[in-house]
Amino acid sequence: MVRPKVTDTSAAKSSHPALERPVLHAFRVRLADWYNRNKRDLPWRHTRDPYSITVSEFMLQQTQVSTVLPYYDRWLDQFPKWKTLASAPTEKVLKAWEGLGYYQRARNLQKLAQAVAASPGGELPASIEGLQQLPGIGPYTARAIGSFAFGLKTGVLDGNVIRILTRVFAIRENVTDRNVLSQLWSLTESLAPDNDSDTYNQSIMELGALVCLPRKPACLLCPIQSVCKGKSEPDQFPVKERAATKAVVERIAVIRDGNRWWCEQSAANRRLSEFWRFPDFDSATMTEESELTRFKYTITNHRIDLTAVHARWKKSPSVKTAGRWLTRHEIESLPFSSAHRKISRQLKGDR
Ligand code: SF4
Repeated sequence: MVRPKVTDTSAAKSSHPALERPVLHAFRVRLADWYNRNKRDLPWRHTRDPYSITVSEFMLQQTQVSTVLPYYDRWLDQFPKWKTLASAPTEKVLKAWEGLGYYQRARNLQKLAQAVAASPGGELPASIEGLQQLPGIGPYTARAIGSFAFGLKTGVLDGNVIRILTRVFAIRENVTDRNVLSQLWSLTESLAPDNDSDTYNQSIMELGALVCLPRKPACLLCPIQSVCKGKSEPDQFPVKERAATKAVVERIAVIRDGNRWWCEQSAANRRLSEFWRFPDFDSATMTEESELTRFKYTITNHRIDLTAVHARWKKSPSVKTAGRWLTRHEIESLPFSSAHRKISRQLKGDR
């Protein structure tokens, strides 16, 4: 089950209105019994080691458990401690992550390792507030590590938990709304028992992965069905009203000099930082010659209509212009976004 990012926790510390006893019993007792009988045997459930648990949480973000499994043990063999990961060359770290996708997670995990290794005790702090101040650790990850590694009293909220809570409590508000998300954080905090938040958190996420599925939940097998108000129409929850899609037009310049093409590296503060791209067409400095290719693609809520054109500089780029001439071989071996990779496949000439 993919674990999407949930970031807003502004009301997480406030208490939710009193929950009825049968609801608390269902979430804390029946759900825990079900979990103990049905849980999957996953390697990160056999440890309380904060480093190993952090690695699993980073790997599981937006990634299936089955995809993560072969990487987890290999990673711990290669980088068994914060210090080993902190001092490893970044290329080696990215190579070990290769195939898991979302490479920023690997970079963030190494930044976190460097911060932990440089801290006085060389270990993670055992508090939600302390964890959240570290690089790469958001509200969900802080609570997951706090609960699974340190046994802190806290409730987690990920995509699985949102789905279950909106169904059980028949919450019909838009879950992408900040205030609704805050209420859900408050609700999960109230449901987590003082003495065993760990089991509550593991069991509710496991219910979302095995029973309360996005499509066709197995309500007849569900340990909390007696308190679920949404079980007659589970596909109505959660309600997600996304922002309207914005249309964007992009014009990209493909400028050739012999068997080399002009490319730029995205600035550190831009999306896809460190990735290479062809430059935006600029009529002040470039002349358009003909169309090379045109296609549409989508990023989050942007529908982009991209046209790449053959172009040339009106005068040679100065040494101050960010970018350089690359051969096809270099273009193939450097990281490009999918859209600009698609443009590069149209290039003809020596490699
Ligand atoms: S009864 Fe069905 S909809 Fe309700 S929590 Fe259980 S599986 Fe989900």
